[in-house]
Amino acid sequence: MLNIVLFGPPGAGKGTQADLLVKKYNLIHLSTGDILRSEIKEGTSLGLEAKKLMDDGLLVPDDVVIGMIKSKLDKNPKSQGFIFDGFPRTQKQAKELDNLLNHQSKSISIMLALVVDDKELIKRLLNRGISSGRSDDQDEKIIANRINEYNIKTTPLKDYYASQNKLHEISGTGSVLDIAKKLNNIIDNL
Ligand code: ADP
Repeated sequence: MLNIVLFGPPGAGKGTQADLLVKKYNLIHLSTGDILRSEIKEGTSLGLEAKKLMDDGLLVPDDVVIGMIKSKLDKNPKSQGFIFDGFPRTQKQAKELDNLLNHQSKSISIMLALVVDDKELIKRLLNRGISSGRSDDQDEKIIANRINEYNIKTTPLKDYYASQNKLHEISGTGSVLDIAKKLNNIIDNL
């Protein structure tokens, strides 16, 4: 089984690389951001609650995203593995993910952390905002909040996975395919 935490700040290219990894290794892609956006689209009460926070660039409560991930794991017991994209984002989420996997005799195989500097992130997100229509990509203040949340609450997770010898940092600048090759090399040498 191959369970990957795909890590990095907003705009690092996690979604793009996840799509390639899913095809190559036959994994299930779990993006908490995508799941939240589909809840918003469907107008569920969870979606409505989350939208207010997402519109400000703030994290939604841990219990909400943990519940979403638990239900996806329960629904896919026979998967060859998962890519966690945008999750975990806090220490509590990371610990709960370990617990959930542990209960199914599974574990995280590796954390692949994409590294991109802030200036490039802001440029990419504003560009994505034009084509995606995502309102959180169209406002520099919201983008700054998201990067700030990442720096304060999420970056420390690198230490969490480093202490388990699972952290691999990869530059997220350069061509999509070159970055993909680097990720594949790391995975194939596990
Ligand atoms: P990005 O990585 O570009 O910020 P995402 O789609 O991963 O985009 O996340 C969009 C928003 O959804 C975040 O700003 C946050 O409000 C919310 N979100 C997504 N995943 C989580 C999570 N694991 N914990 C808390 N909030 C989350």
